[in-house]
Amino acid sequence: MKAVLATANPDKARELAGLLEGFEVVPRPPDLPDVEETADTLEGNARLKAEAVMAATGELAVADDTGLEVDALGGRPGVYAARYAGPGATYGDNVAKLLDELTGVPVGDRRARFRTVAVAMFADGRTLVAEGTAEGTIADGPRGEGGFGYDSVFVPDGGDGRTFAEMTQTEKAAVSHRGRALRSLAAQLLQTLP
Ligand code: IMP
Repeated sequence: MKAVLATANPDKARELAGLLEGFEVVPRPPDLPDVEETADTLEGNARLKAEAVMAATGELAVADDTGLEVDALGGRPGVYAARYAGPGATYGDNVAKLLDELTGVPVGDRRARFRTVAVAMFADGRTLVAEGTAEGTIADGPRGEGGFGYDSVFVPDGGDGRTFAEMTQTEKAAVSHRGRALRSLAAQLLQTLP
């Protein structure tokens, strides 16, 4: 089955391609303008992105949207994870702002989770939705060179204390929000096959 990715983010595209095993994964057409993420929910934004790519290509489109919920910050940055430190913020800016806001918060109070909603939209508009979460804590400083975004400060529960950025892509995918959401979406997609 052919699946066109809706993301223009190469970090996410790399992970998504690895997770959609058995699918013919096609990158987003380069001439497609960015979709404004104007919804205030992860599912809303994932639907907007999937719909735009499906409409432009006439093919099954797969989109995901991810948020980071930090309990000590009342759930922020949440759906606004990309723009946490302001418009045009880099990954580094966002991580610095997060660590700054958590200054003085003890390890036991740094609970957080990544949440991904993945959407697959067929050419006839039929839509499948899947969600995945990864529970963990925010480290008191960045560690590791792998991954992207907030990976260097996120320590998933049930691991050996490494951040996502200290793991291989395969190790991260086994327990990550995106891994869980995409495995669930892929299973639903395979069930739709004749
Ligand atoms: P998006 O809306 O799905 O593109 O994700 C919003 C922001 O969340 C990204 O710009 C990253 O900063 C962050 N993010 C998304 N996925 C991950 C991840 O797997 N690890 C760390 N940060 C992530």
